[in-house]
Amino acid sequence: MAVMTIDFLPELVGSMSTGAAGNPTVAVMEAAFRHHGLHWRYVNMEVPPDLLGVAVAGARAMGFRGFNCSIPHKQAVVQFLDDLTPSAELSGAVNCVMRGSDGRFTGTNTDGLGFLRALRDVIDPHGTNVVVLGAGGAARAVAVELALAGATRMTVCNRTLSAADDLARVIRDATSTIADAVELSVGYGIPERTDIVVNATSVGLYEPDTMVPIDMDTISDQHVVADVVFNPIETSLLRASAARGAQTINGLAMLVHQAAEAVRLWTGVDPDFDVMETKLREVMGLE
Ligand code: NDP
Repeated sequence: MAVMTIDFLPELVGSMSTGAAGNPTVAVMEAAFRHHGLHWRYVNMEVPPDLLGVAVAGARAMGFRGFNCSIPHKQAVVQFLDDLTPSAELSGAVNCVMRGSDGRFTGTNTDGLGFLRALRDVIDPHGTNVVVLGAGGAARAVAVELALAGATRMTVCNRTLSAADDLARVIRDATSTIADAVELSVGYGIPERTDIVVNATSVGLYEPDTMVPIDMDTISDQHVVADVVFNPIETSLLRASAARGAQTINGLAMLVHQAAEAVRLWTGVDPDFDVMETKLREVMGLE
């Protein structure tokens, strides 16, 4: 009698974060795996900060092909990895780890790439002048990718000036983008000849009526305005910018693009964006 062999051992990836229960990524990833017939599983893992090193060692021991890192592990995880890609090195933050054929764990940052892909649907950042509002993890990833993509000039604008200074210095030292830092204070006016404005602060997250305190009279139909905040999808900033004729990009596309990039890096399969976006909208109650 022929013996049927069934492979009960999927390839494993997942996410390490604190507050994992609120992270919808697992649904999006598993939708992509199912759609493409990939024998892969994505495990959402609650990992406290003091056990991150043990968790990474566990992932190695259990043969994980990679994993995502979310709040608060994006910077701390670096010390437990073997290699970093240039974007992770420059931004100092890792949101995606890949296991190579030699078993080494390489950290990269797909947040910035995800942003870039969403942006490129609207504008090529090469040769543009950009304003990045914020200097935290998301802002660093976005700023680095914009600079690597050939932005000519960048103003990093943040509530805490020292963080903006630090990010502008990284951009200046490592890329050919001209970068300066300013403090984000009430009524900040977007400099003339700016092409792209990115809100990479957490202002507006879960607060539909709150927005970064920029002077909206300095926004016009000359601008592309992007927001990394994905909940709500249409933030106050995007609504007000669209009312002034600007083209807008919401944070949902970035979220799906960064997840799709992770699937690509881990499996080599170029996943169906629509399948992933539809699932995200469904689990966020947007359908
Ligand atoms: P961080 O905590 O690292 O950074 C927060 C940033 O927001 C800092 O620059 C901080 O300024 C600024 N900020 C916070 N509150 C205020 C305020 N009241 N006024 C002015 N500035 C403020 O967070 P992350 O960078 O990790 O996340 C930022 C946002 O990006 C979140 O909303 C997150 O959900 C989103 N995100 C979206 C992704 C996507 O795929 N769409 C991917 C990753 C993140 P200061 O330095 O002064 O504190």
